[in-house]
Amino acid sequence: MIECSNCETAQFLQITQSRVYFADGELINEIMETYQCTLCDSTGKYIYSNGSEKPRVDGDIEVTTERPKFA
Ligand SMILES: [Zn+2]
Repeated sequence: MIECSNCETAQFLQITQSRVYFADGELINEIMETYQCTLCDSTGKYIYSNGSEKPRVDGDIEVTTERPKFA
């Protein structure tokens, strides 16, 4: 789950832009989402690339694990 790191909640986050990049025309290669918090106006970017273990985040958002990972 993605949260605003200022407000520490996902409640006010909006996706303002969402892009999916494809490799070879079919497989999803990268997902890029831009978020804006409507409460404090923070913005952030979430990028997930196929093949990388963790998504990358930029700006004033953070990824939290809502439920524990299975070992
Ligand atoms: Zn906020």
